[in-house]
Amino acid sequence: MTYLKKNRYPTEDYVAGILSGNRVILSQSITLIESKLIQDNLLAHEIIEHILPKTGKSIRIGITGVPGVGKSSFIEKFGIHIINLGYKLAVLAIDPSSQKSGGSILGDKTRMETLAKNENAFIRPSSTGGTLGGVGNKTREALMLCEAAGFDVIIIETVGVGQSEVIVNQIVDFFLLLMLAGAGDELQGIKKGIMEMADCIAITKADGQNKYASIKAMQEFQNAIQLIKGISDTWQPKVVTCSALEEIGIGDIWQIIKNYVDLHKNNGLWKIKRSQQNVEWMKSNIDNYLQENFYRHPKLKETFNNIEARVRKGEITPLKGAKNLIDLLEEGK
Ligand code: GDP
Repeated sequence: MTYLKKNRYPTEDYVAGILSGNRVILSQSITLIESKLIQDNLLAHEIIEHILPKTGKSIRIGITGVPGVGKSSFIEKFGIHIINLGYKLAVLAIDPSSQKSGGSILGDKTRMETLAKNENAFIRPSSTGGTLGGVGNKTREALMLCEAAGFDVIIIETVGVGQSEVIVNQIVDFFLLLMLAGAGDELQGIKKGIMEMADCIAITKADGQNKYASIKAMQEFQNAIQLIKGISDTWQPKVVTCSALEEIGIGDIWQIIKNYVDLHKNNGLWKIKRSQQNVEWMKSNIDNYLQENFYRHPKLKETFNNIEARVRKGEITPLKGAKNLIDLLEEGK
């Protein structure tokens, strides 16, 4: 392998590595996507262009739920279950650790230990750190790389507290919401909009003393989801209970996902959704491009801070400030 400056290889080496399922190269390529260096992002885009024809075959699943609901325990058992069925699984965990606190909601603890050691699993936590639009594009790109590397099921895990779920919903085929029973008002803690996106709601930790409460919660969610979404003639969201601890309901959830996939492939909605998602991907790339070009434009370097300060002091309105900056870029075009 030829070694380039700054530990970067030629594009074809990354492409060959990914297509042969080399996880180290896969990991390094995802790092290029996440890098703040424009050169790295450009290299990543070149790689993606090459591997795109090899993408599209996986089942893409979004899994969300508040911290503590049991996501990593569930994914671990679910992952082992489907690997035993012969699938290869990649998990991309989006950690909304804020730049402010520098903390991490997913935690530094070793998550999904058994799964992480399995040769048919690939787990990649990624800190969002930047803009939400960026999260969408970067996650989608990482997903494409995983598909090209031969993973046939890809889970995108989020913590269900922010807006990233809406973006993830534009990337995945199936959205699974994990909820807890017996935590007071059953609908609290999770936004209604997230419930609307769910193709399946699983009440976790349905074991021991929590079993009865979980069944009760399941019935309440069944009613709630009908009120929120109405009756659908294509897919009625399923509500189930599960326990990672006792390994109950895990296989049933996989079966629900398989049924969803078969149904949507047969009725043509699978293809329609994927094409819509591709259009969204393009648009979001344009948005990102415009934004980055705007803020990084050399013409704005000094003026931006100046105008920002004036808006902060109330000397000019935000609208006027924005217009001044845009006009500055438009000048001389
Ligand atoms: P995450 O923050 O959503 O990833 O949640 P974790 O998977 O880390 O689980 C949070 C806590 O719930 C841990 O202490 C787990 O041991 C516990 N837990 C997870 N799944 C189950 C389950 O199925 N049954 C029971 N009783 N406890 C569970």
